[in-house]
Amino acid sequence: MSPTIDTKTPAVHHDLPTPDPESPTRTRQPYKLSTLCVAVENPSMKDQYGSSSVPIYQSATFKGVGNEYDYSRSGNPTRSHLEHHIAKISSAARAFAVSSGMAALDVILRLLRPGDEIIAGDDLYGGTNRLLTFIRTHVGVTVHHVDTTDPNAVIPFIHPTKTAMVLLESPTNPLLKIADLALISKEVKERAPNAIVVVDNTMMSPYLQRPLEHGADIVYDSATKYLSGHHDLMAGMITCNRDDLAKQIAFTINSVGNALTPIDCFLLLRGVKTMAVRMDRQQATSQLVATYLHSLGFKVHYPGLPDHPGREIHQRISDGNGAVLSFETGDKELSEKIVGSTRLWGISVSFGCVNSLISMPCVMSHASIDPAIRAARGLPEDLIRLCVGIEDSSDLLDDLEHALVDAGDIALSAQQNKYVRVPPGHVALNKAVEQLAIGSSNSRGVEHEWFVSAPGKVILFGEHAVVHGVTAIAASVDLRCYGLTTPRNDGKLSAHFNDINDFQAEWDIESLPWGASAPLGHHERHPEDLDQQLIEAIHAGPLRELGPDKDQARNAALAFLYMYIKLTNAERPSVHFDVRATLPVGAGLGSSASFSTCAATALLLLSHRVTLPSIPPPISAEHLHLSHHGRHALEKHNAEEANRWAFIAEKILHGNPSGVDNSVAVFGGALTYNRPGFGKPSGMESIQGFGSLRFLLTNSKVPRDTKKLVAGVGLMKQEQPEVVGSILDSIENISAQAKRSLADSTEFGRENLLRDLSVMISENHKHLVSLGVSHPSLEIIREKTAAPPYNLSTKLTGAGGGGCAVTLIPDDFSDTSMKDLLSELTECGFDPYLTSVGGSGLGILSPYPEHRNTSAKDIHPGQVTPPETPDEPNTSDPRDSIKASFETKSLLELTGWAQNLGKWLYV
Ligand code: PLP
Repeated sequence: MSPTIDTKTPAVHHDLPTPDPESPTRTRQPYKLSTLCVAVENPSMKDQYGSSSVPIYQSATFKGVGNEYDYSRSGNPTRSHLEHHIAKISSAARAFAVSSGMAALDVILRLLRPGDEIIAGDDLYGGTNRLLTFIRTHVGVTVHHVDTTDPNAVIPFIHPTKTAMVLLESPTNPLLKIADLALISKEVKERAPNAIVVVDNTMMSPYLQRPLEHGADIVYDSATKYLSGHHDLMAGMITCNRDDLAKQIAFTINSVGNALTPIDCFLLLRGVKTMAVRMDRQQATSQLVATYLHSLGFKVHYPGLPDHPGREIHQRISDGNGAVLSFETGDKELSEKIVGSTRLWGISVSFGCVNSLISMPCVMSHASIDPAIRAARGLPEDLIRLCVGIEDSSDLLDDLEHALVDAGDIALSAQQNKYVRVPPGHVALNKAVEQLAIGSSNSRGVEHEWFVSAPGKVILFGEHAVVHGVTAIAASVDLRCYGLTTPRNDGKLSAHFNDINDFQAEWDIESLPWGASAPLGHHERHPEDLDQQLIEAIHAGPLRELGPDKDQARNAALAFLYMYIKLTNAERPSVHFDVRATLPVGAGLGSSASFSTCAATALLLLSHRVTLPSIPPPISAEHLHLSHHGRHALEKHNAEEANRWAFIAEKILHGNPSGVDNSVAVFGGALTYNRPGFGKPSGMESIQGFGSLRFLLTNSKVPRDTKKLVAGVGLMKQEQPEVVGSILDSIENISAQAKRSLADSTEFGRENLLRDLSVMISENHKHLVSLGVSHPSLEIIREKTAAPPYNLSTKLTGAGGGGCAVTLIPDDFSDTSMKDLLSELTECGFDPYLTSVGGSGLGILSPYPEHRNTSAKDIHPGQVTPPETPDEPNTSDPRDSIKASFETKSLLELTGWAQNLGKWLYV
């Protein structure tokens, strides 16, 4: 090691502790590290203007002679502030800011001389390896790479005079191995008193680990990572407590000129202020991710896991587990697929950013290490490194899960009702088996019927205003669409849309335009854009006979055939699809979305993309109703898959749907919706936890032109921006209040909820009248329902559609009043439907015999019910066709009859 080098006196030696005011009566406790991170204060460098943020001294030179600063290579005030701050949070006397982490190591390695020996870890950052190789070959320094996670492996290499430096990382990157920094420092000091212990602390940051406290002589950080936190600058920090070392370091930096620029010092200082909150969140999510992967059976490297070999040591020397973890899949190709399948996790080298990153060290950050050396150091080629950011943890887990599914590494186990790992080597086989469709259908044959149903929706608040950025609230209604697939097994596909002018059609499966569509893999998602080539081929082929007068039926058939061709390429099941609805079609009540949901779900069931748990849900349960949150993997997968495909059908039917209607049809309940592009968060949010509410839905049967009505409001806004602006503000307030009332109803009571809603309904309607979107029939409905003895609140619903009104019905509204009101409305020529709002979403009639209600077996028209013969075994096959009854039940009977068939599994 070089003797003391004569150097220019390093800039000032600052007073480090943050001022800690004392009172004679009550002493103050020292500030916590998270407080110190934010408090950038340097008592010896008070700003002349009291600026809250350290100014950028973007100056190469400073005037005067003998002043503190003369030339920025030697010192700069912005840099001094940064160095003071980093020293303070690192338990250091001195800190130096340089242009990168590697520059920091370069400065440190210049303490060495030819003939010196260095002991370094065998699982080091690739760049560190590269620089060590350089000094070995060019400077004549001997480098011993040893497993520093085992102090006994280090000791034999410590030479009392030759060992000049011991270079450690803990945890190591990317295998997260732990080195006992305290123990090794002690051993080195005892055996080679002149050797310096250097720690690369990048993986932890000073917030989680301060190796100077454990005997290290020099610590460096790639400040490109957690210290700055945003991947918007390169920087390195060196800290130490020894004056002799500080002098040499300052000399080198001044000599080579690699100090950090003023603007980067400013950015880094800004980044450090948020380091504690970032790290807290990042490591909390890392723990979740590590636990999740571990639970799937992956070999996971993370010190937060109970079985991590270095856990105890790590807990002793650090304050947290950090936000980097890695895992092995057992197959390099599979790892590449997983990395390539993530969306939220960005594929990138490096770590420490607020955004989450994924990488394969052997092909990225560690590619510079010879493969043979990688192998010798036990660095698995299939290793995936995850660097966790601050995104919502559920989004990160979800994205990872999707990537694992897409890569075929995990698959849904119907038996276990969760995702399980596919044993390595079985991935391809598993996919092939899935393609062949395990279960109840072979390539053509289908054994049983699938009966599905989905609700319509009402817009409770915010229609029209939503176009201009206001929040809308949509909720499910218990008027539903029902879809039934029945096996045909004759090579034909047929459909019957009962409520679209009794439309019926039949196609030869082989004659469908299969060639026009690129087949979708079993795990593959439909791209964002529709396949126009397939749409054209369906129009020109199976639908060519349908003229423009059959628009509605043609569109519905197009959506059905499009999904059939996309989803069932492997199976091509021969089935009949029957659809009925208890909700009026084309009345703006989401009939198309509930149709889309039913068609999508039936086809997903037939193509085995949606499967039901094979362990039947508890018989005692009235029905299996799983909330959106906490839903098991299978239900969650099913609901999301159904929603994705229902949205595709909606796109076919409407061109540019918002996605609200299909989300309500699938998930039920209520949700808020905001359109993108208004400077606030867009998208949907579900409102949980309110019991369903009774509403009267009255179809005025006055056809309305949605586009014209929307355009009218737009024009009015242009002409009277202030008037319309204030109406929109009022509607926004109503929506916000309604959302709160619905969400807090358990706390504030149902009575209060109903009273609040009633007021808000009347107010919202008045605003819609002011916007000019009501019409006389709707006003008649409003007046009739508001008149005594009813005293009910009514508003129009939807942006146009079929001209429907919704009337809130209080729980204590009497049956007689209801009867009277219904007949009054009917007499006026309206169609009233008593319905409840906020109930279940997509439902699938359980296929399990235990769940089927055999006493509700079909009674065909004209058939006399045979008396029950209890002695005889029940020979009725629960899978007996329900088709005949489905087609003949009256609208009023349909819901009750369907409910009675057996258990419905709701998502
Ligand atoms: N040390 C570790 C552990 C690193 O991961 C890196 C960079 O990834 C460095 C040092 C080098 O830092 P920089 O890229 O800022 O030069």
